Formats: sequence, structure tokens, C-alpha cells
Amino acid sequence: MSSRAVTLGRVLPPAVVFLIADGAFSFLPSLRSEPSSYFFGLAAPLLALAVCGWKAWTTRNPTRNLWWLYTAGLAIWNVGMMLSAREDLLQHFPFEIASLADFNYFFYGIPILFALSTPAEGKRSSLFTWLDGVQALFAGYLTYIAIFDRLPFTTSSGAPISIGLLVLTYNLENVALAIGSILRLLATKKGGEERHFFATLCAFLVSYGIGVGIYNKMALDAADHMAPNVLTDAPFVLLAYLILTLPPDGKKSQSLTPAKTRAALFIDLSSPVFFTAALLTLGLMVLREHFYSGIVAIDFALAVYGVRTTLLQIRFRQAQTALQSARDRLEELSLQDGLTGIANRRNFDRTLEAEWHRATRTHQPLSLLLIDLDFFKNVNDEHGHPYGDRCLVEVAHALRSAAARSGDLVARYGGEEFAAILPGTTSEAANTIAERMRQAVLDLQIPNQTELGRFVSVSIGGCTADGVDESSPARLIEAADQTLYKAKQWGRDRTEHTSLQA
Ligand code: GH3
Ligand code: MG
Ligand code: MG
Repeated sequence: MSSRAVTLGRVLPPAVVFLIADGAFSFLPSLRSEPSSYFFGLAAPLLALAVCGWKAWTTRNPTRNLWWLYTAGLAIWNVGMMLSAREDLLQHFPFEIASLADFNYFFYGIPILFALSTPAEGKRSSLFTWLDGVQALFAGYLTYIAIFDRLPFTTSSGAPISIGLLVLTYNLENVALAIGSILRLLATKKGGEERHFFATLCAFLVSYGIGVGIYNKMALDAADHMAPNVLTDAPFVLLAYLILTLPPDGKKSQSLTPAKTRAALFIDLSSPVFFTAALLTLGLMVLREHFYSGIVAIDFALAVYGVRTTLLQIRFRQAQTALQSARDRLEELSLQDGLTGIANRRNFDRTLEAEWHRATRTHQPLSLLLIDLDFFKNVNDEHGHPYGDRCLVEVAHALRSAAARSGDLVARYGGEEFAAILPGTTSEAANTIAERMRQAVLDLQIPNQTELGRFVSVSIGGCTADGVDESSPARLIEAADQTLYKAKQWGRDRTEHTSLQA
């Protein structure tokens, strides 16, 4: 039996017993009383708060902050419930007048909204967190004046909104939060921690919206304003139950998850707009009675929205530029020989092809040199492979210095062979360059004791195509290879040259 099944078995019975007892005290006239309803009404949300706080405390991943926000919302709700108990049981506050408790029942949604507007995978930059925090406070302030019709910390007695309007406001809030959570749930990839969070949040907000909606309607209609408490308690019990039976954290299978659909991305990326929408709505609600607060709220919401989109665009541009330079660098690397840093074979093939077509188009000569180190095996045998590698680097740079005209390309052709593409170069000029290269390598004076002498030398086979009209440069390579073979045969440490004629 899995550990999850054990938890299910352990948690379900007490939850059911609690709800049955709560139901009995809610519906049986003989049991029903104000103190008993507050007992259950306090126990259920306190339990949910404790379990949610425990979850936030023990979670070690990006969803941790989401759980804390959830906990904050529940804490505010619990304070509301305690205020209600005091107002009803001790102060006998009239039902019709909105109280501080009512403010809490509304304000609990602000941290939840904050969680809903957190971008996917918890990536919210610190500036946006601050801006959203200020928006949250602003929303709280507007809620307060919307409910009490006066500014916080002032004593002027305004006209608090009617209980009917208050209930309507609750319902609107609950529907908005439930829809927000459903959208987020739909957009969250399956199986992740974030999915657990939004699934739990969604189950709670939907059941809470329905339960509280029915409860408030019944309380409004009943002569004694009493309604079955179990309606508002059950969502909290459900929440505690769901959190306790969540599978354990930490199974990261993100690399295998498929890319998000366009719709999911849309919800993810637009979720910060939930806040803007909430603030705009609240601003419009208070606009008539509290013109300046309303106008400032609307302006602020739009300003934050503007800043957010502008910053995101800036980031997008920066990311594009960084991507472009990374791509350029990658392209550069893909054309470079890893050992010597000069052009690689890929680069050689590409350049030769291009120069070949240009030469046939412009009727310019094109020369190719193939350069092979003499008795290089001997260098490796005598001094080791790493030493041989260093020689190759030095030779590569010497060859490149000898053919440094723009348009010339010196490449590592493979192993200890190099090649030079010399566009617009006649066979005499190419031969001169080949001689210069041979001399440059000798001048390096890299020791290699052979029948040729004491230093590393090269043999060079060259070929110049002049006015040839062929589709592929393969014949040029073939001819240069044959001349290189001749140079080797005729004693090495020498240059040979030939021409391809039409
Ligand atoms: P030849 O004058 O006939 O060209 O003699 P050679 O010894 O240069 O020719 P051979 O083809 O017999 O040997 C080529 C040597 O080049 C063998 C190989 O170890 C060495 N070589 C090829 N690529 C590299 C490399 O990347 N690093 C090092 N250190 N040696 C290499
Ligand atoms: Mg060779
Ligand atoms: Mg060789």
C-alpha cells in the first residue's frame, strides 16, 4: 500500500466525522446555536490555516511562496471569523451593517489573487513583485472604502454598503477568483508541484464560492439570519484534506513534459493582468463616491500595466540580441578548427564552392594549395602527440601569415594537411605564395631530424584554374592533390604547381 493511500485512510474518517457533526449542529434545530456554529466555524478554517501553513513551511520548491500566499489569505479569513465571533457573541453587532469582519472576508482574496497572478514556475522579477505588492495594498484600501464608504483610520461615519450589495460583491469576488484558478489549473502542466497547488486552490475556491454563495443567500432570506454553517466550513475541511493527501514533493520530471500549448502560454503570460483588472474594477466601483481614490487607482493600475509591458518588451529585445550573438558565435565556432583556431574543413568546402562559382562568373583565376607536413609521424614518435599538436598550431599560424590577403583562406584540411584558397590569384602568384609558406614553416625551426634536414618542413601541391567552366571544384582539388603527390615523390620540402585550362 502506498504512503498516499495510508494518508487517505487516516485523514478521511476524521474529516467525515467533523462534517457530519457540523451538519447535525447546522440542521437539527435542537442542536443549533450561535456558540456551536462558531465552534465549527472557527475550527474548520483554523484547521485549514494550520495545514496550509505546514505545507508552506515544509515545501522546498518554487511553489513555496504560492503556499505562503495561500496561508496569508486563510489567516486573514480566520481573523475575519474571530472578529465575527466577537461582534456577534459579545458586541451583538447588527447583521445589516458591514463590519471589519466583512472587510477581512473580502480582503482574504488579495493574497490569493497575488498567487493567481504569479507567472508560471514562480518566476516573477523582484520589481514586479513590489509593483504587485503595492497593487495588493491599493486593492485592500479600495475594498475598505468600497465597503465602509470612508477612508481607513478616519472616524467620519460614512454609509457602509448595504448587506445585499456586500453579498453581491462577495459573489463577484468568489466567481472571479474561481475562474482565475480554473484558468491557471488548465494552463499548468500535469504532474508538477504547481499543478498540485492550483488543483487544490481551484477545488477550494470553487467549493467555497458555491458554499458561501448559498450560505449568504439563506442568511439574507432567513428571519433570524442563520444559515447552515456546514456550507462554509466544508470547503475548509476539503482544503485541509486535499493538502494532507497531496503526493509527496520533489518528483521532477520537467524535462519530459511537452511544450505548452498556445492557450496555456496565453493564460500563463496574461495572469499578471488579473491584478490590473481587479484594481480597475475596484477603482471604477469607488469612483463616484471617492473620485480621487478611484482615479488614482485606475491610473496606477494602467501605469503598472504599462511599466510591465514595456519592461517585458525590453527583456524580449535583450533576449533576442543575446540569442543572435550566441547564434553568431556558434556559427563562428562551427567553422573553426578546434585545435589550430584557423578555418576548418567545413569552412574550406563552403568557401571553395563559393569562390569557384564566383571565379567562373567573373572569369578570374582561382588557385588552390594543398600543404602536407613532411615526415610528421616522426615528430609524434620522437616528441609525443601533444608536442605534435603544438607544432600543428604554429605551422597553421605561419601558413596563415604567408597568405594574409583579404579573400585568402587557409584551412586545416585534415590531420597534418592544410589547404589555401587564393581567389583572383594567377599560377605565378600562387607559386610565390606557396614558396613563402614553405619558407615560413622552415623558419619556425621546429626540430625534426630526418633525411631532409633538422627542421619540420612542408610539401605543397598547387593548382590554378583559369577560365574553366565546370560546375564543381572537385577537379581542382584532384589536380592539386596530384601535384602534392609529385612534390612528395620528387623529394619533399618543395612546391609544385599546375594549371587547369579550359
Ligand atoms: P609524409 O611526408 O609522407 O607526409 O609523412 P608523414 O609522416 O607526415 O605522413 P603520414 O601520413 O605517414 O603520417 C601523418 C602523421 O600525422 C600521422 C599522425 O600521427 C600525424 N597527425 C595527423 N593528425 C594529427 C594531429 O591532429 N595531431 C598530431 N600530433 N599528429 C597528427
Ligand atoms: Mg598527410
Ligand atoms: Mg605528411
